[in-house]
Amino acid sequence: MTQIDENSEMPGAILEFEDIEFNQSEQDSEVIVLKFMKTYYSNISKTELEKIAKFDISKDNKKITFYDVNENVAERKFNLILSRALDALHWKINGQEKEIKYIHRNSGIPLFGCIGFGIVDRGTSMIELRPNTGCNLNCIFCSVDEGISSRKTIDYVVEPDYLAEELNNLIEFKKNQRIQNQTKSSEPIKFSIFINPAGEPLLYPKLKELIKKVSLIENVETISIMTNAALLTSSIADELIESGLTQFNISLSSLDDKKSKMIAGTKLITETTLNTETKLITDSELITETTTYDTGKIKEVISSIKTKHPEIKIILAPVLLNGLNQEDIEQIILFAKETKCEVGIQNYLKYKQGRTPKKIKQVEFSDFFDLLKKWESKYDIDLIKNYKLVKTAQFEPVVKKGDIIKAEIKCLGRKPGELIGVLEGRSSRSITILTESISGYASGEMKKSGYVKIKIIRAKDGLYSGIKL
Ligand code: SF4
Repeated sequence: MTQIDENSEMPGAILEFEDIEFNQSEQDSEVIVLKFMKTYYSNISKTELEKIAKFDISKDNKKITFYDVNENVAERKFNLILSRALDALHWKINGQEKEIKYIHRNSGIPLFGCIGFGIVDRGTSMIELRPNTGCNLNCIFCSVDEGISSRKTIDYVVEPDYLAEELNNLIEFKKNQRIQNQTKSSEPIKFSIFINPAGEPLLYPKLKELIKKVSLIENVETISIMTNAALLTSSIADELIESGLTQFNISLSSLDDKKSKMIAGTKLITETTLNTETKLITDSELITETTTYDTGKIKEVISSIKTKHPEIKIILAPVLLNGLNQEDIEQIILFAKETKCEVGIQNYLKYKQGRTPKKIKQVEFSDFFDLLKKWESKYDIDLIKNYKLVKTAQFEPVVKKGDIIKAEIKCLGRKPGELIGVLEGRSSRSITILTESISGYASGEMKKSGYVKIKIIRAKDGLYSGIKL
């Protein structure tokens, strides 16, 4: 920053932006670190700022003042710098620095079409919101390959206003369409909004704001999140509930501290700490240093929520890992009964793109349901859920499988070799584009803009994927 001339005739242009802070870099005296949503950051060189005019940053780091320059000129020039900085955001998760793509109203990236972010609508009254990616755990079975051992190199964060507005538009559309499985019923549809990112929602810095905005949408009846609860505290829960959250789905696969840490991939796994069984099922040797995963604390938080807010639904959602955590799930059932929670057991499924723990076999669904029935009668609890989702209208598909079409590249996709694009002529849908340039991706050489020709390989449930031709 330069010295300010106190006697200057032009007082200067004071610029202040919501969610933006300016900090002097601790590593480089020539760099200002732009902090966004208190979580993400981008570097701006002082030389670049000085090209606008002499500048200064306020003590609270919230304002930047340019001196001896017309306010409109300063604002216009600074907005260009800001836009480039927001396009180059990073964050730190699990001690790793990662690129993060901010998807906002003016980013040109639609919120419908990609599974990794935005809105997933499968044509029912339950709509999924995916505001962020990134996870503080590293579960051995993670179906979305999140956490410290993830192969992906980019994360996404969506502007809460953009997400809430698009959700409102979708709900309005559904309300205005004839409900497919109801003929003359005038009953309004009640929508369940499920915040279920490919990652951990408590890492989304605008979760409270998003919940608040969603709760104000007409006909939204319930708002739930799927969380690993490692970051959940009683006061965070209070704030989320106050904002409008009605349900916590907590993924917790064991109450045994050692085993749950191993399943969550947060403990350094060495030959000495492994027993024969666990040694066979995991190949992870990584540690998540930034997370304290403490099942005792999670149990306390659950009990506290149920005591303070008995009306709030909590569903404990363990994943059945065959041969590893059956007894643990029985313990979870007992804990749920004691605390008046529900239990929604998930069967472990192998996903091509997810992590597959060694020696854990997928249980046939018939056997899985037999086990649930056995536990239902043993513990007098309802485990086989029959969610009453209302079938609703869905946006018409904009392309079909096999179509050949152009797409405009917008940013990197989540996984190596993937891009995110927008379908040409269908600017309201984004698409995941698979390329063969995995090595190009890794070395940063993959094309990140322009148009590519693609063949559609998936056009279902409003989700689109294509192969670059
Ligand atoms: S908590 Fe969920 S998203 Fe995170 S690593 Fe575990 S399974 Fe994956």
